[in-house]
Amino acid sequence: MDSRKNISKFSIGTQLTMLGRNPDEQSGFVNPPLYKGSTVIYKTLEDIELKRNRFHYGTCGTPTIANLEDAWTQLTGAAGTVLSPSGLGSVALALWSLTKVGDHILMPDTIYRPSRVFCDGFLAKFGVQTSYYDPLIGYDIEALVKNNTTVIFMESPGSQTMEIQDIPAIVQVAKKYGIKTILDNTWATPIFFNAHAHGIDISVEAGTKYLGGHSDILLGLASANEECWPALRATYDAIAMLPGADDCILALRGLRTMHLRLKEAEKKAIELAAWLQKCPEIEKVLHPAFEGCPGHELWKRDFTGSSGLFSVILNKKYCKKSLSNMLDNMSVFSMGLSWGGFESLIVPFNCQSYRTATDWLETGYALRIQVGLEDINDLKHDLTLGFERLNREG
Ligand SMILES: *Cc1c(COP(=O)(O)O)cnc(C)c1O
Repeated sequence: MDSRKNISKFSIGTQLTMLGRNPDEQSGFVNPPLYKGSTVIYKTLEDIELKRNRFHYGTCGTPTIANLEDAWTQLTGAAGTVLSPSGLGSVALALWSLTKVGDHILMPDTIYRPSRVFCDGFLAKFGVQTSYYDPLIGYDIEALVKNNTTVIFMESPGSQTMEIQDIPAIVQVAKKYGIKTILDNTWATPIFFNAHAHGIDISVEAGTKYLGGHSDILLGLASANEECWPALRATYDAIAMLPGADDCILALRGLRTMHLRLKEAEKKAIELAAWLQKCPEIEKVLHPAFEGCPGHELWKRDFTGSSGLFSVILNKKYCKKSLSNMLDNMSVFSMGLSWGGFESLIVPFNCQSYRTATDWLETGYALRIQVGLEDINDLKHDLTLGFERLNREG
């Protein structure tokens, strides 16, 4: 950060232009330089013995990594941030930091699926047992707490099906039992939901999505409050799972416009969701800013905005062939995983096969839509033509 300024008094868009850079230390250049490196040179025997340099060795971080960490720490109001080469890496770091053999953790049934695979297929091998809960459980999560429960994980809205969780209620239960909380805040970002101000211990963000914003990097960030920061940093230091410097520079670049891109995505997604709600092909729109999305009232209470990702359920009369006709021939939307980039995406999903704590009762095909920066009329037109193909016989 520019150390001459106390920037917290500025509004968020202004802060994003200032975070993680200091022209006084950058030969006057606006942006920080890109450091790549393993070895750090010490001048004297005493310096190396006392580890007097701020940076000791590449695995402990570089000025480039520190610029991004510091920016995120300020933005989230955390005690500290560590980076990972992917969002999933940050989920893993957060869980590793707060669990040990013999522990039990609670994960929402609507968790990002690879996070679920990490728990069941990996953490389990280290003696950490995972139970899944209904994301809409609220205060009733208390009934699932065991003597050895150490972490309650949240993700709001839920992956694909968009349920908003009662984070304050769950945090309150967790605090009562001395349980730590982790939130995957990727959808809202710190701009639309302030995790630490809501009592979350570790907040995870897939920087791959809105921070990068251009579908050209993989990156994860995990920020912690005072209490959990030492554990998170120690885990990071033990594993040395760092992103590359080039990706950090792209993330710092993304940071400057994240607010604008999110606002634009929010506006377009709301307009498109409202339009879709009126299309006869659509059975249901699952967007947290719309009534009818589970937890909509909680979204209104706790969030300051909505991003560009939501889901729809098609009328159940459509068969797979019709769906292929629609999706195979889109010209503006593409089919692809991930989201948060400048390009609009549409992907079918079916969560029935792997969820264990809830039943997915929708029978129509479900589609997840990521709204990018294209013109809204082009997006509507592409969907209109898509629906014509969907309705075509045979
Ligand atoms: C994409 C995503 C991740 C993982 O990010 P990667 O960088 O792709 O590993 C984690 N959580 C959520 C909610 C995501 O959407």
